[in-house]
Amino acid sequence: MNKNPSNVMALAPNTSNKRETVCIFGTGDFGRALGHKMIQSGYSVVYGSRSTQISNLIPKDAEVLSHAEAAQKAAVIIIAIQRQHYNFLIPLAEILHGKVLVDISNNLKLNQYPESNAEYLAQLLPGSRVVKAFNTVSAWALQSGTLDASRQVFVCGDDMEAKQMVMNIVRALGLTPLDKGSLLAAQEIENYPLQLFPMWKFPIFLSLGLIVFFFLYCLALDVIYTYIYEKNNFSFFIAITIPNRVCPVMALILLALVYLPGIFAAIIQLYRGTKYRRFPDWLDRWMLCRKQLGLIALAFAFLHAVFTLVTPLRAFASWRTSRRIISQALNNETEPLNNTNAWLSDSYLALGILGFFLFVLLGITSLPSVSNNVNWREFRFVQSKLGYLALILCTAHTLVYGGKWFLNPSAYKWYLPDIYMLSLIIPCAVLVVKFVLILPCVDKPLTQIRQGWERNPKHSE
Ligand code: NAP
Repeated sequence: MNKNPSNVMALAPNTSNKRETVCIFGTGDFGRALGHKMIQSGYSVVYGSRSTQISNLIPKDAEVLSHAEAAQKAAVIIIAIQRQHYNFLIPLAEILHGKVLVDISNNLKLNQYPESNAEYLAQLLPGSRVVKAFNTVSAWALQSGTLDASRQVFVCGDDMEAKQMVMNIVRALGLTPLDKGSLLAAQEIENYPLQLFPMWKFPIFLSLGLIVFFFLYCLALDVIYTYIYEKNNFSFFIAITIPNRVCPVMALILLALVYLPGIFAAIIQLYRGTKYRRFPDWLDRWMLCRKQLGLIALAFAFLHAVFTLVTPLRAFASWRTSRRIISQALNNETEPLNNTNAWLSDSYLALGILGFFLFVLLGITSLPSVSNNVNWREFRFVQSKLGYLALILCTAHTLVYGGKWFLNPSAYKWYLPDIYMLSLIIPCAVLVVKFVLILPCVDKPLTQIRQGWERNPKHSE
């Protein structure tokens, strides 16, 4: 590895406010934004460009030279040029020998080329030390002070010293470097800005499918059925009543779906007698998006709480209350307090409030800033133990609410069960199987398997 004097200079401890000189090839949007940020952070910036004419877009204190001249002035050269133009670097191979080349490029499509742009650059200039960085930061974020965008900069490269030099620059710019390992990781880093919420796709499509199903289900039973058989036009139920039936159902089912893959995984491990065989792909993918499923469930629980709070403000609610009072007054009736009903209603509300509280706690601990500050055991305690407690409370909340009329034949319109009965199927199944799994006779072999024990070791080959 060539250690030219400029490299040594770049690594020397900085005793003044002025940092070393960094070269940027390309005076385009990104080159200019990065150069501006670097000058602000105390670096000297020299641009390598096809045209050495200074335009007023170039940061004021920067120099603009030819590529060859600029490269000689710095140990670190940032290539702010699209991959398709990299060929122009080949004649500069000698000057770039031993220099740290920072590939910041992105592509237009996922896996657009067989190799990553950074690996391609390393193949073109084998004597240079290529590091991938900065591609996840946009020119706009750099210009706007990186205050309202992600500060994470993924860095990878085969040369540890070169990587450290780039990570030091990242830190000096007020960004957070994240070492992703060798240059092999460059493909993944280049694909990262092209992905659109990859972990959210399955939870969002699943939620949309379930919402449409439950909404139409409620529409049929609460509006169409009532219109046909009772001649009541309750179409306004579409605004609040039906959403307030769909939201808790969605929250409960999605929360149960967060814990269901763990149950499947335990059953599969018990059946196979080993943890050393991969789970089916669908289960792996499901496990990876549990956090997203939980956050969507929390959003539905929150909407349910808001819809419930506005219920007394509705014209329908005040009409129903006044109708009951007037009818009691006309018939000279008094309604004694039904203690059982009062207990049921208070317990139902208390269970809902406690369940929602734990739900919010689960959401908060899933935030990276919080989960980074708890250890593995604490994280598992909240997500698993408190998570199951939240599921128990929310399931009990639904059971107490609908318990009485689940058994009432009038709840079955068109022989269909009420939506709340449907919502209880998955949560109850999860809780019952979980209860079986924590019985000592099942839990013991499962724990052994998870610690590496195998019932039949040849199965793991
Ligand atoms: P740009 O505005 O089009 O600038 C590209 C620069 O490349 C040009 O200004 C030009 O600089 C130089 N160039 C163009 N054709 C060339 C050729 N044939 N030979 C040599 N140099 C040539 O693009 P950009 O937005 O700055 O993006 C530059 C790189 O940064 C890309 O790889 C992009 O994927 C990556 N990136 C951009 C952003 C962003 O937000 N813009 C974010 C992350 C990564 P000179 O005229 O000075 O020679």
